[in-house]
Amino acid sequence: MAKQVILKQGRERSVVRRHPWIFTGAIQKVTGSPERGETVDLLSAGGQLLGRGAWSPQSQMSVRMWTYTDEQIDGEFFSKKISEAIFLRTPPVISSETSGVRLIHSESDGLPGITVDRYGDWLVCQFSTAGSVYWKTTITAALQKIIPCKGIFERSDLSVLKKEGLGESAGLIWGEEPPEVIEILEDGRKYGVNIRGGHKTGFYLDQRENRSLVESCSKDRQVLDCFCYTGGFGVAALSGGAAHATLLDSSGPALARAEMNITLNNVPEEKYTLMEADVFQALRKFRTENRRFDLIILDPPKFVESRNQIDKGARAYKDINMIALQLLNPGGLLFTFSCSGHMEDMLFQKIVADAALDAEREVKILRWLSQAPDHPLITGFPEGKYLKGLMAIAT
Ligand code: SAH
Repeated sequence: MAKQVILKQGRERSVVRRHPWIFTGAIQKVTGSPERGETVDLLSAGGQLLGRGAWSPQSQMSVRMWTYTDEQIDGEFFSKKISEAIFLRTPPVISSETSGVRLIHSESDGLPGITVDRYGDWLVCQFSTAGSVYWKTTITAALQKIIPCKGIFERSDLSVLKKEGLGESAGLIWGEEPPEVIEILEDGRKYGVNIRGGHKTGFYLDQRENRSLVESCSKDRQVLDCFCYTGGFGVAALSGGAAHATLLDSSGPALARAEMNITLNNVPEEKYTLMEADVFQALRKFRTENRRFDLIILDPPKFVESRNQIDKGARAYKDINMIALQLLNPGGLLFTFSCSGHMEDMLFQKIVADAALDAEREVKILRWLSQAPDHPLITGFPEGKYLKGLMAIAT
């Protein structure tokens, strides 16, 4: 019997617009008892085939679409999708001076639940949905065939897997064990990445272009990199000739790695200071001490994890932005980010505007910033946009 998911009357609208998620409430009937992750045909109430997707019996997102045609979902399908994704990541989109790249960005590459990052000679994968886990072996074989690499490592240590009724999984899937630290190039800057234990798959690849922008604005400036993690922005500022950079994070191990990354880029010791502290407190301390900077980066973790945290998150964003603006010399630059998908662009701009009012600083936005182009957006899937930022000047 065909494995089919039949939608309720009128609920095909979002799929026709190529939105890849089908929620439980839109479903009228399921036939053929599909297994977790198995491919199902998606039909409108009138019986029209809308495409094929993966069945997630335990999730609120019951189906995630693989295709909007009648094509077969098999090894050939995944090979084709992977090749298409790689084609998008060639120069000039990604410079040849870059060896840390997101190769597959889940829904945005038509592969819901599948993330693949390349760090030098290793690939790091995350499988976060029932469908992606179901096809894991096939996908890994396709990656191996298409992308020359020494090994494929899995980092599906993701709490979202629980919602799918699946367990976490991490370790080597194929090939050679990666070294403790893999050295990558990002627009010519060097970073050491720990793919076994680092955040996400090891590094925040989505900030690449924003770091390059910071590099180009840092010459002779006093820079403050807040929430520096392993030194992404701090290294960029120092590579760009910053007079001095202070790198601030609450994690000792992250700071230790940041220092190694600075050293990799041959920056002399007197050019930087590492500070293990809470950003909210440290910014206040700088204010009390009358410290001033010419360029400040605020790249905090997600302050808004869900819709009901928007107000609380907004207060936290406003707080750090207000004090950062007070710490800027006239003509100083602020690079401020939010990686919360629930934070809308205009709300973020309003928060920075409110922060400027409270800080009593005149602030102009020079650029809107977003995620790097190896984290693309498909037009019908606004949820794909999560990273937003502003480059602003305070007079
Ligand atoms: N800018 C980084 C990524 C930042 S990730 C890059 O380009 O790679 C967020 C970082 O914020 C983490 O390293 C985490 O340790 C740190 N962090 C979270 N809350 C903090 C706080 N209250 N004070 C200081 N650091 C914090």
